Amino acid sequence: MDCIFCKIINGEFNTNFVLENEYAVVFKDINPKADTHLLVVPRKHVESLNDLEDEFLLGKLMMTVKEAAKKAGLSSYRTVINTGKEAGQEVFHLHIHILAGNIKL
Ligand code: 5GP
Ligand code: ZN
Repeated sequence: MDCIFCKIINGEFNTNFVLENEYAVVFKDINPKADTHLLVVPRKHVESLNDLEDEFLLGKLMMTVKEAAKKAGLSSYRTVINTGKEAGQEVFHLHIHILAGNIKL
């Protein structure tokens, strides 16, 4: 499958993971919209929130957001999920943005 995030997860670009667990990986956004801009990405390819049926995975993703924020030293941050092209989704592999400091989004 030609999915940039699947390739990142498979290690094809040697991306440094800020955090990883059984369900998700976390890495820095290549085009940061804030001082800290991380992406929490499920290992499983799910196109968007509209395609997610696994409540357990959703819970794991949100707990990963919390852990990644803590690890990055953030106590205050914004989480964003763009769903669908018109809302600004560019990569069709579900991901949660974590943004903190001078947020431009
Ligand atoms: P979306 O607009 O789909 O919610 O967010 C996609 C995000 O992925 C964008 O903020 C974009 O900068 C980021 N992105 C796209 N391609 C890459 C990549 O190859 N590496 C990393 N680290 N981030 C990427
Ligand atoms: Zn994918």
